[in-house]
Amino acid sequence: MKTLIKNGTIVTATDEFQADILVDGEKISAIGLNLSENVDRVIDAAGKYVMPGGVDSHCHFEALNTDGVTYNGDFNTSYVCLLGGTTTIVDMAFNEHDEDGNFLNLVDSCNYRLNTRIKGKLAPDIALHACCTNYTEETKSELPKLVEMGIPSLKLFLCFKGTEMYADDMALLNCLEAAGKCGMFVLVHAENSDVLDKYRNEAAAAGHFEPKYQYYTRPEFGEAECVSRAIRFADQARCPINICHVSCIEAGEEIRKAKEEGKAVIGEACTAWLTLDWHLMDNPDWRVASHFVCSPPLRDQEDRDYLWNALNKGTISLIGSDNSMTNQEQKDTGWDEENKHCDFRKIPNGCPGAGDRMHVIWTYGVEAGRINRKKYVEACCTTPAKLNGLYPRKGAIAVGSDADIAILDPEYRGTFSVETNPSGVEYSIFEGMEQKGRFETVLLRGKVVVENAKYVGTPGEGQFIPGKPYGLAYDLLEK
Ligand code: MN
Ligand code: MN
Repeated sequence: MKTLIKNGTIVTATDEFQADILVDGEKISAIGLNLSENVDRVIDAAGKYVMPGGVDSHCHFEALNTDGVTYNGDFNTSYVCLLGGTTTIVDMAFNEHDEDGNFLNLVDSCNYRLNTRIKGKLAPDIALHACCTNYTEETKSELPKLVEMGIPSLKLFLCFKGTEMYADDMALLNCLEAAGKCGMFVLVHAENSDVLDKYRNEAAAAGHFEPKYQYYTRPEFGEAECVSRAIRFADQARCPINICHVSCIEAGEEIRKAKEEGKAVIGEACTAWLTLDWHLMDNPDWRVASHFVCSPPLRDQEDRDYLWNALNKGTISLIGSDNSMTNQEQKDTGWDEENKHCDFRKIPNGCPGAGDRMHVIWTYGVEAGRINRKKYVEACCTTPAKLNGLYPRKGAIAVGSDADIAILDPEYRGTFSVETNPSGVEYSIFEGMEQKGRFETVLLRGKVVVENAKYVGTPGEGQFIPGKPYGLAYDLLEK
C-alpha cells in the first residue's frame, strides 16, 4: 500500500517547508517536491499543516483511581487520541494486583497490560512507563529486565501518603540509584504529602469541603519543595529526572535553577494546567466542579503565563495530557452521604484530555501566539519521542520513520464539546471553549485511521513500541 500526501506544508521541530510525502507500507519512504509515483491513494493537503503524529508522554488508561478502588476509562476509549492527532501514547503501567489483592511485580504488571488490558481495544500505538506503586528490593532487580522489554522509564508518586501509591524518600533515592545504572529515567509526581495533608485536614476541621479546597490546600511551596528535593536526589544518584505536570511559578523556578546548574532534569507541562483556571472548581454545582479536581491543582493566570514562557525558554520541554478518564459516577464518589455535602478529599483526582491535548495546545498556544508551530511539534511530538527512546521511529517526519502523520486544517473553527471532541467520558473539561484548527486526516503506520475528522481505524491495531534506554534526558547528565 502506497500513499502520497501532496501539496502540504510540513512542520517539524526544526523546519517548515512545502513538500510531498510518499508512504510505502508502514514507513515514510520519500520526502520531496512534486513527487510522482504510482500509488494506491493520494491525499491532497493543500492549505494544511502536515506534522508528525503526536506522542503523549503522560497517559493513564485503565488505571486505579486515587480512591484506590475504581479504574478510569479503559483502552476502548483510546481512539480519541487519534482524533486529536496523537498516534503514540506512553501509558503508566502501575503495579497490578492478583486475585488475593497482592501486588504483582512490575515486569508481570507491564506484561499484563500489554498482553491482556490493551488486547482488541488499543487504537494508537503505545509505549510504557513502569509506574511503581510498591517499591521493594525486588523492584530494583527488575529494572534491567524492564529496560530489556523496551520500558526505559519508571514513575513514582511522592504524594498520596497513606495510599499504596506513595513512595517515601528512601524509595525515591534507592530507585533513582538503581535506575541510573541501567539507562532509565525516573518520572515523579512531586507534591510534599505532609504539607498538603496538614492543610487538607485543617480545611476539613474548619468545615471546608467544597471542591475549590483542592486549590487552597495544595500550596505552591509544597510542590516546589518536592520538586527541589527530587532533583537533588536525582543529581546525587546520577539519574535523569522528569518532573510531571509542573503547575506553578515556584516549581518551575526550581527546574530553571537546577538546569542552569547543569542538573539533568526535564520539566513537563500538561494541557489542563496550561489553559484552565482553578476557579472552575468554584462552580456552584459541585458535580461540575469535580471534573476539574486534579493534582497538583489548576492554578492562576500568572502561573499559566509562566509555563508558556518556560516552554519557549526550555525550562519546560514537553506537553503531556495526564489523561485520566474519570467518569461522572466515579467523580460522584466525592459525595459524603452521611453529612450531605461533597468532600473534596474524596473526589478522585484526574481529568480526561488525551484527545484534546493537540487541539487545545494548537488553539491556545499556536493560534494565541504563545508558541510557534515548530515549538508545538517539538513539545507535543518530537521531544516526547526522544525522551522515551522512540525517536526517530516516532516523532519525526523523516525517511525511514513510521508514517504516523497528522494533517491539520488551520481554517477550521468550532467549539470544544464532548459531542464533537469525545473525551472518553460524559464531559469535557474544555467544554464551550473556542477551537481553532482541527486534524482532518491522521495516518498510523501508513494506514489512514482518521478521515474527515472521523475515526475509521480498527480498535486493537495499536502496537507496543519498545523504547530504548539512555534517551534524551541522559544527554543532560554531565559526563
Ligand atoms: Mn500526577
Ligand atoms: Mn498523571
